[in-house]
Amino acid sequence: MRIGQGYDAHRFTPGRKLVLGGVQIEHELGLAAHSDGDVLIHALCDALLGAAGLGDIGRHFPDSSEAFRGIDSRILLRQVTEKIHGRNMRPGNVDITMVAQAPRMSPHIESMCSNIAADLGLPVDRINIKATTTEGMGFAGRGEGIAAYAVALLEESRT
Ligand code: MG
Repeated sequence: MRIGQGYDAHRFTPGRKLVLGGVQIEHELGLAAHSDGDVLIHALCDALLGAAGLGDIGRHFPDSSEAFRGIDSRILLRQVTEKIHGRNMRPGNVDITMVAQAPRMSPHIESMCSNIAADLGLPVDRINIKATTTEGMGFAGRGEGIAAYAVALLEESRT
């Protein structure tokens, strides 16, 4: 088995949709990014790529590339899954923590888990997503942005 961790943070900005775990969430601010700004999926991609020894999301999907402008991050996650399969590995389970003062995440967690399970080709009980505030401390606490931490376990198939 192999383990990886990922971290990402994006800044809130007006005039953008807020998309987290592939779910569009009603909020007055979205996240600034070259892609759709799905910070949860970016952290997860980095955890998966890290576990596989494949570098990071910026290496595979550079934000200098027009091909990835505004892209649905679930497309990136599915490509990461394919890269992992190509290395004879498959995800075992993933655990993700979002850090945000607002909006409330709990109504959306189940849909986020289903999206990620589908993109990883896993049963939904292998996906855990949770959210916390920081009681007003730091950039997330001041509502300047959202951060996400992820860990992922990969299973290597023996041949
Ligand atoms: Mg990012």
